[in-house]
Amino acid sequence: MASKITVAIDGYSSTGKSTMAKWLAAEVGYRYIDSGAMYRAVTLYAMRNRLIDNNRNVDQVRLTEALTSIRIDFCRDGNKQKTLLNGENVENEIRMMDVSSNVSVIAAIPEVRHRLVALQRELGKDGGIVMDGRDIGTTVFPDAQLKVFVTSSAEVRAERRYKELLEKGEKVAYEDVLANVVERDHIDETRDESPLRKADDALLIDNSHLSREEQNQWLLDRFNEQC
Ligand code: C5P
Repeated sequence: MASKITVAIDGYSSTGKSTMAKWLAAEVGYRYIDSGAMYRAVTLYAMRNRLIDNNRNVDQVRLTEALTSIRIDFCRDGNKQKTLLNGENVENEIRMMDVSSNVSVIAAIPEVRHRLVALQRELGKDGGIVMDGRDIGTTVFPDAQLKVFVTSSAEVRAERRYKELLEKGEKVAYEDVLANVVERDHIDETRDESPLRKADDALLIDNSHLSREEQNQWLLDRFNEQC
């Protein structure tokens, strides 16, 4: 049997990267890792411990010290994945708007990135992994055999995210969701440390007008070309 490859899926906020990454992992029997959940979990930790204030000023010294005591794990709950922060299931909390509003600021801190990139490399060291994020193909696994970069219009992305949040019972305004999506992309693209960008050898997919099935089939075809 051919050895298992590494699949890196990067792209803008709320492009449905994780849905497609999760689907491919289940389809081909690989492990799925949501690197965004790791940045969200660190953000939640910072918020709970008052290491970030309402103006998004971060106590970087204390956060850096705390990084060694933040444990992030993933576990399966049926076909859902749960993110654990020091053993506590925080899967729902990390998806809420207050965490989304702070996460890109926390994710721009080099010490946070170094720690999480090391963890991501450890999780993916044996291949057989589909990881999604912003810097997986450029920084975490620059040698990944399959790299995909996903994009779609900001309005389409905000609409999807808005519906998801409403379904989860969070009361939000569409304009706030759109503003958050646009702002996160801007912070992610302009940070000094491994900014969001398409790796030169990544395949670009714009899924603004693709159905979920079309997008999954496209991804599976690209995967099969590598294996
Ligand atoms: O993927 P998701 O939207 O949940 O990611 C949340 C945030 O985490 C992103 O907006 C980005 O700021 C940060 N992130 C990152 N690098 C990654 C994954 C996520 O900077 N590999």
